[in-house]
Parts: sequence; structure tokens; C-alpha cells
Amino acid sequence: MPGPHRRNRNPSVGDAARRPNSPPASEIPDAFANGFRLDVPLTDTTRYLDYLTARFRAAGGEIESPLHLDRLEEVSPEFDLIINCAGIGAKSLVPDPSLESHRGQVVIVPKIQNRYAIVCDDPPLLYAIPRSHDCVFGGTNELSHDRSPDPSTSARIIAECSRALGSIPPKILAERVGLRPFRAAGICLEADRLADGRFIVHNYGHGGSGFTLSWGCAQEVIALARSISPGCNLA
Ligand SMILES: Cc1cc2nc3c(=O)[nH]c(=O)nc-3n(C[C@H](O)[C@H](O)[C@H](O)COP(=O)(O)OP(=O)(O)OC[C@H]3O[C@@H](n4cnc5c(N)ncnc54)[C@H](O)[C@@H]3O)c2cc1C
Repeated sequence: MPGPHRRNRNPSVGDAARRPNSPPASEIPDAFANGFRLDVPLTDTTRYLDYLTARFRAAGGEIESPLHLDRLEEVSPEFDLIINCAGIGAKSLVPDPSLESHRGQVVIVPKIQNRYAIVCDDPPLLYAIPRSHDCVFGGTNELSHDRSPDPSTSARIIAECSRALGSIPPKILAERVGLRPFRAAGICLEADRLADGRFIVHNYGHGGSGFTLSWGCAQEVIALARSISPGCNLA
């Protein structure tokens, strides 16, 4: 994988190391004074979650939905090992008062021509992420539990992203709000026991990196589960 490249770097250097479909440094939008480009995996979550669901079911997993637990001990007694991946829900479910809800609002717009994502972490947070059938414009990061989209925030996101891309503001297909489960002390990935004696492995608090960290954390969950419950049947 080529390393990051600065915007004004000699194009011939970047081009030599570049994959065929990655943008040359000259394609970094003019709205940015400087920037980097790099090749990284990009997940289209609309497809990825369907893929994971199908894979889980094919392995014999069952999903019960809707489901709301007030206490972890409410998990059916037929299960002697519980993996807690409740995200921000762990704040009340564990309970873990150190969990913070970092609200993120995005706007879904029609597919754009860019072959690559643009991300700017400087305030205001800004990203435009092309997907198979549409594009995600973002974003926000604020301490809030409010899951309802704010139209003025959507308008601001559309204006900022369009300015960065140098394009006409697109129409809004949908507005989405998610709550990043942030934990200042880091992810909680540890084994414990419920009041009724059953084994539990906690795996929550991934903040804005839950997709990125998911496979590594899942491997640690399996190792922990095997260590506390050697008879457990985890692939
Ligand atoms: C705008 C935005 C952009 C993001 N961008 C990225 C990114 O670029 N890369 C990245 O890696 N991550 C990103 N994230 C973060 C990522 O989405 C989260 O870290 C991840 O979804 C957390 O996964 P999780 O399974 O721990 O929790 P969740 O996805 O929140 O799942 C928790 C599940 O537990 C269930 N649950 C909770 N409480 C209860 C209860 N009491 N009873 C029963 N069920 C319960 C919920 O219904 C839900 O199904 C982003 C998040 C947002 C909001």
C-alpha cells in the first residue's frame, strides 16, 4: 500500500507508487490548503451490514428484533455465555456511566463522480464518502443523545461539502443520526460474571471507530470467552 502523499508533492513520485485507481495528488480539491491522500479500505456499510447479517444467519445465528433489555440478567437462561455489544446502550445496561454519546449527523445524497472519499478532521468536521448507490456527506460530533436530524445542520453539511467538492449542492435523499459510544478510558473489552453467575464478555465503547476495530476486537472476545468458558462453541 503506498504511503500518504502531500498535495504539492512532485506528482511523478506519487504516480510511481500509486495504485491504478487512486487519485493523483493534483485531484485533492482546491478548497483545501494542503492535504494527504492514501489508499485505505472503505466500507459501504449499507452492503456490509447485510453481508454480516447473512453470514451470521448462515452460521446458525438468530436475531431477535425488536428487543430491549433493562438488565443483562434478562438474557434467556438457555445462554450460559453472553457477549455484550450494546454500544451506547451499555451506559444503562451495564451500567457504565463513563460512556458518552457522541452524536453524529450525516446526509445521504445521490451518487457523486468522485472515486475517492474526502475527509477533513479540522472543525467543522467534513467528509464526502462515495458508496455504490449514493454518497454520505458529513458530519458532526457533539455530546448529545438526540437521535432526530436537525435540518439546519443538514443544510450546513450540504453547503460545506459542496464547497469542498466545488459542486452544485445536491438534493437530500435522507438524513441520518447515530450515537458514537465513546469511552474516555478506551474500549471496554473484558470478562465478567453476572449476578446470576453466568459468564459475560463486554465489548463496547468503540466511539467513532467501531467498524475499523470490529474484527480485532471480535478475535479478542473469542479468546476471552474460551478462557473463561472452555466448553463454549465459538468458531
Ligand atoms: C456519523 C458516524 C460516523 C461513523 N464513522 C465511522 C467510521 O468511519 N469508521 C468506524 O470504524 N466507525 C465509525 N462510526 C462508529 C461506529 O458506527 C460505531 O463505533 C459502531 O457502530 C459501534 O458498534 P456497536 O456494535 O458497539 O454498537 P451499535 O452499532 O450501537 O449496536 C448496539 C446494538 O445493541 C442494541 N442495544 C443497545 N442497548 C440495548 C438494550 N438495552 N437491550 C437490547 N439491545 C440493546 C442496539 O439496538 C444495537 O443493535 C461512526 C459513527 C457515526 C455515528
